[in-house]
Amino acid sequence: MKQIKSKADLAINGAPPAFAEKLHVGRPNIGDKAEFLKYVDQIFDSKWLSNNGPLVQQLENKIANIHDVKHCIAMCNGTVALEIAIRALELAGEVILPSYTFIATAHALHWQEITPVFADIDPDTHCLDPESVKKMITPKTTGIIGVHLWGHAAPVNELQQIADEHNLKLMFDAAHAFGCSYQGRMIGNFGEAEVLSFHATKLFNTFEGGAVLTNNGELAEKMRLMRNFGFGGVDNVIYPGTNGKMVEIAAAMGLVNLDKLESVIQHNEKNYRAYQKGLDGLPGINLFLFDEAEKNNFQYVVIEVGENCPIRRDDLVEMLHAENVLARKYFWPGCHKMLPYRELYPHAGLLLSNTQTVADNVIVLPTGKAVSEQDVDLICHIVCKHIETAL
Ligand SMILES: *Cc1c(COP(=O)(O)O)cnc(C)c1O
Repeated sequence: MKQIKSKADLAINGAPPAFAEKLHVGRPNIGDKAEFLKYVDQIFDSKWLSNNGPLVQQLENKIANIHDVKHCIAMCNGTVALEIAIRALELAGEVILPSYTFIATAHALHWQEITPVFADIDPDTHCLDPESVKKMITPKTTGIIGVHLWGHAAPVNELQQIADEHNLKLMFDAAHAFGCSYQGRMIGNFGEAEVLSFHATKLFNTFEGGAVLTNNGELAEKMRLMRNFGFGGVDNVIYPGTNGKMVEIAAAMGLVNLDKLESVIQHNEKNYRAYQKGLDGLPGINLFLFDEAEKNNFQYVVIEVGENCPIRRDDLVEMLHAENVLARKYFWPGCHKMLPYRELYPHAGLLLSNTQTVADNVIVLPTGKAVSEQDVDLICHIVCKHIETAL
């Protein structure tokens, strides 16, 4: 491990970066290449490239089993999966969601001419605050989309209660929550449907991909129709569908990556523990803690830079970048401050004080297979050194 001995050794003062190669957030976790190539041979031999092929079906079964849920409908990506789930649930008018999420959650609504109404988050969990959700309900509200941010489950029971009381449909953006649980039950079983993303940067990837999980057979059938132009049989279109199909090559990547999933999660957990140890006691640096009683995938290592930290969040990000640690300010500045929402709802921020604080304080640090425990130690060392210097 490279030792940084003094302020003069920090890259920001002109020394070379601590890491020779850039450490990115969200480097793909990739399974066995030889196994993948075997599937490629299989695909070339069978000439079945798309349209609910055998590999897609295998992948759907495996993902449904992992999440202990009846139906998994694989899609070309998480955003289309969100759009299809939203449409299958017949959401319309206004739908409540957090602003503190990846922009696709909001876009999937706006794209279908549904008004996204941003509710505030709980500053401890970074997930929807049920009290704020209640305040956003109007006669036009038809649904709620909870987001299991960082893999930490949204307050499912409270949101379900609100949904029941107001006759709203509840669904979840579970893009971060592959393999996670809520009160001991796997994600995928809550609300009407839950949506996964298998984008390259996610814990588990199929290059691009996504899926909807649900226990509702009728809804599952509807979404299968919707992802395939509404074809109910050869020459028989019975629904205005779109093209949301996953291709075989993507499913092949998924199958080989699934074989390595446990080891990826174990690796992430080790990194998370190393960060926990390495950042412990630093003034104003608060690691986002996972609930030890749940299944977690440790996909994201998130710190919040509080007021008693002698370095501002943005400066710390700069300092890390100078060392080739490409930490990120997720999901800054919040959906409500991006276009078109900033112009459509210029006052949304007035009701989103926790969202604004969290978005201003969060740094996501690199983890995943491309980051070793030694790398984590060095990253922590860099953070310590800068804080010591600034104190
Ligand atoms: C990645 C992500 C999406 C979008 O998924 P894609 O597969 O990239 O389309 C949606 N919501 C959240 C919270 C995400 O992190």
